[in-house]
Amino acid sequence: MSYAVKEIFLTLQGEGVHAGRRAVFLRFAGCNLWSGLERDRSSAVCQFCDTDFVGMDGENGGRYEASELATKAAELWGEGGEHRYIVITGGEPMLQVDDTLVEALHARDFTIAIESNGTIATHPGIDWVCISPKAGSEVVQRQGNELKLVWPQTGSDTEVMESWAFDHFLIQPMDGGNAEANQANRAAAIAFVDSHPKWRLSLQNHKLLGLP
Ligand code: SF4
Repeated sequence: MSYAVKEIFLTLQGEGVHAGRRAVFLRFAGCNLWSGLERDRSSAVCQFCDTDFVGMDGENGGRYEASELATKAAELWGEGGEHRYIVITGGEPMLQVDDTLVEALHARDFTIAIESNGTIATHPGIDWVCISPKAGSEVVQRQGNELKLVWPQTGSDTEVMESWAFDHFLIQPMDGGNAEANQANRAAAIAFVDSHPKWRLSLQNHKLLGLP
């Protein structure tokens, strides 16, 4: 099988428990909760997406076989086989991730992290599972390393989420697209953590740092 890749590049992980870590980012094209087209946003299950995952026209984007993709990731990482870390994201990466890709990346010594909306069970070979639930969708992947909830999200049942088997529970202010909305969302996230100490704040550091 070949994979539809929007972009693949070297950067630092910007958010979540591994914020600041050197990482290859592999963004797959396509999502099951929104077409990615603005005309469909208001009728989509997920309406606050801040990511362009449509097509294959990003940095190093295109169609790849598993071995080609693993080779590209290793090339982007550069010298040194230790500490290799790849974040597979999207869109919804579990629409495409399979045994062949996981094996090819492990064969290149990558530790594999995934960022998924949790509506499709994640591949068991993945080393770090980060799930970001979207209100109105059914999360089937209820265990993993990191649950990262974008906030505020009307309709999210955080009490139910607290019963899921994650090591870390994170609240991340929604990118509202303008300074005023962002300030309000940050305040809402801080207030949430203040009253729910199981959760802690995650910030999108890459946006502050000008990283992709
Ligand atoms: S689930 Fe994730 S990738 Fe899909 S539309 Fe929502 S935020 Fe974007």
